[in-house]
Amino acid sequence: MIDSLLNIKIKTLFALIAIFSVSTIALIAHNTLELHKDVLSRNVLCQEQSMGNDTTLKAYEQKIDKHFSRIYNLLVIMLLSFFFIIYIVRQKVFLPTEYLLEVIRSFIKGETPQKPKHFYCDEIGQMSSEFFKLKGALDDDLKRIRELAEKDSLTGIYNRRTFFKEAQHSITHTQKVNTPCSLMILDIDYFKNINDTYGHIMGDKILSHLVENVKSCLSERDIFARYGGEEFIVLMPNRDIQNAYHLAQTINRKVAQTPYLGNNALLRIKVTLSIGLTVCHKSNEIEDIIKIADNALYQAKNSGRDKVVVI
Ligand code: GH3
Ligand code: MG
Ligand code: MG
Repeated sequence: MIDSLLNIKIKTLFALIAIFSVSTIALIAHNTLELHKDVLSRNVLCQEQSMGNDTTLKAYEQKIDKHFSRIYNLLVIMLLSFFFIIYIVRQKVFLPTEYLLEVIRSFIKGETPQKPKHFYCDEIGQMSSEFFKLKGALDDDLKRIRELAEKDSLTGIYNRRTFFKEAQHSITHTQKVNTPCSLMILDIDYFKNINDTYGHIMGDKILSHLVENVKSCLSERDIFARYGGEEFIVLMPNRDIQNAYHLAQTINRKVAQTPYLGNNALLRIKVTLSIGLTVCHKSNEIEDIIKIADNALYQAKNSGRDKVVVI
């Protein structure tokens, strides 16, 4: 009985409650009127007959008692129904609303609440599940927005802003635990010529191809980002200068030896890199380290390109 009441829609429940209350009140009013009429008749009879006819008076008194007990019963039923209605409304409205509020508060705090509770498929239950769907969609959007803000849209690696954030954090840590750290800047040689010869769209494909090649040489710890245009940057925590130099040479060789192959088997586009490399000294800020690596890159460009220069 309770379960079937809990399963009906809130609107239907309130309509039933309203019909029930109006009928009970009408019944009580009707009985009260009848009682009033009978009391009046009894009083008139009493006045007319002075001492009165006992049997007629008794009949009236019995009738009055009957009205009294009916009204009393109706009041008891109304009181019980009132508590029952409060219980149903609590189960169907107050508890689900309280839970929904709790869920909204935890969403605002950034927590993910447990799976949604089942609220008898009513309006609040639907509201709750719609709310969870909305939260899911917002989380997906937030993830996409974060990706757009943190990563380079062409190559999928970190952008310059994220690099600075991650690198600063990493350098501070390596300085604290006293481990080595190196940094290199990589620049594609004569990339303008590639764009001029094959077009910008092909240039974009070559940039993505190069990123995949470089990535395949790096470890999880290395922080790789697009520094701008056809320039890339790698911070290498836990790599001393020898280790970093070895890695830079490997990247240089791999890029030179892995040309971009077009759909047409005849299309092979080879690019080379110039790399400027330096080690992070303890007192240096990230900007100072980049400046030194940039000087090394400048030297690599000026001394023939396709090489690694260490300062
Ligand atoms: P260098 O060896 O001195 O580095 O010569 P370079 O031609 O590589 O250098 P320059 O600075 O003269 O030209 C860089 C070119 O990179 C010019 C620009 O159009 C191209 N470039 C920068 N970003 C992109 C990009 O996202 N896509 C494409 N296709 N080209 C880009
Ligand atoms: Mg270049
Ligand atoms: Mg450049």
